[in-house]
Amino acid sequence: MKVSFPHLGNISIPLKAFFSGIGMDVVTPPPTTRKTVAIGAQLAPETACLPLKVTTGNMVEAINAGADTVFMVGGIGPCRLGYYCELQKHILADLGHDANLIAIEPPKGNLRQTARFAQMLTSRARIRDVVEAGKLAWEKCIGIDILDQLANAARWSERKAGAVDRAVQAGLDRLDMASRVSDVREAIANTIEQIRSCSTLGTIYELDPCAPSLQVTAEPLCGSNSPVSVGVVGEIYVVMEPAVNMNLCKKLGAIGAVVSQPITFSGWIMAHVVLDIIKLMPKPELLTWAVPYLRNFVGGHGVESVGRSVQMARRGLDGVVHVSPLTCMPEIVAQSILPRVSEKEGIPIMSLAVDEHTADAGLDTRLEAFCDLLAVRSGKRLHGVPLTPCQGSGTT
Ligand code: SF4
Repeated sequence: MKVSFPHLGNISIPLKAFFSGIGMDVVTPPPTTRKTVAIGAQLAPETACLPLKVTTGNMVEAINAGADTVFMVGGIGPCRLGYYCELQKHILADLGHDANLIAIEPPKGNLRQTARFAQMLTSRARIRDVVEAGKLAWEKCIGIDILDQLANAARWSERKAGAVDRAVQAGLDRLDMASRVSDVREAIANTIEQIRSCSTLGTIYELDPCAPSLQVTAEPLCGSNSPVSVGVVGEIYVVMEPAVNMNLCKKLGAIGAVVSQPITFSGWIMAHVVLDIIKLMPKPELLTWAVPYLRNFVGGHGVESVGRSVQMARRGLDGVVHVSPLTCMPEIVAQSILPRVSEKEGIPIMSLAVDEHTADAGLDTRLEAFCDLLAVRSGKRLHGVPLTPCQGSGTT
């Protein structure tokens, strides 16, 4: 059994650790490129959202690389994700592939379904190995989240262009290689030090890799000497997959903004898998933030996008970038509400819809203009250069 899965940010690192830990051969799909997107766009219905197209491209590339079983997340509710796996089965069958496509559905307290899935995993491994593999994968998941969040907070202050991302990539490579939890923790601690040493962020973060706080972006966002701060909200797939959001967070950091992107793998897995198994999914605090503007669940991360934007405004961030795939229903709902949030909460919000035709250059221009506007409006700085209204834009 050679298993694979579509990419989502760096989730392939913990997934690979888990599946190989329980004795499966893992075929990691080639990194998502324009070619991947083009393959998916050619096979999927034209008006389908980008996650379907790109994950289909990943699947085709994984099968071509030798995978015979592909795991894909399922879903319920108004979002189309729930039927994508079925659609992808048909697409792959039409192409003549006989790979086994397995949907991982949200447990929703359905213990029988969860038990069936666990049985499928444990049929090939001892329970002890499954637990050990799960622990290692979880630790890697947390590690990825910490490095992502730290990078978002540190890029604006790096001493050499690209130094933070090079440190993060080296850390991710070490995480990928790590075969013990202690190795993972050591890799995280070393990478945090590397990030600190290549940026002027100093010692503002005191992270204990054994009990990491994922709210690492909270501290530097307030205060008169802070750089411009930008929050990123939107549909989880495009927020977390740099290959489809055109490296949005990296671009914002390179422009000189400190970035807060609060969606994390570990947070999502804890809420939607672990707690969901025992029907203990907490009522997200974000619903409370969203209530004045949106009271009902609209699928995907629509409510979260509204709630997080309100939260970011009240916590003093200077602006919000809302990113979503073109034709994504939940985010269209959010997008129609965000102008009101912007007006009432006094925070500029820019919505970006991405699809397979989105190009780097157009995005760069829009982000630079938006960050200049935030700098002038807040009197804060991009890259440590104070901007005042009379200096105008384009000098950063
Ligand atoms: S949330 Fe939107 S983009 Fe994501 S799968 Fe659902 S409809 Fe598609």
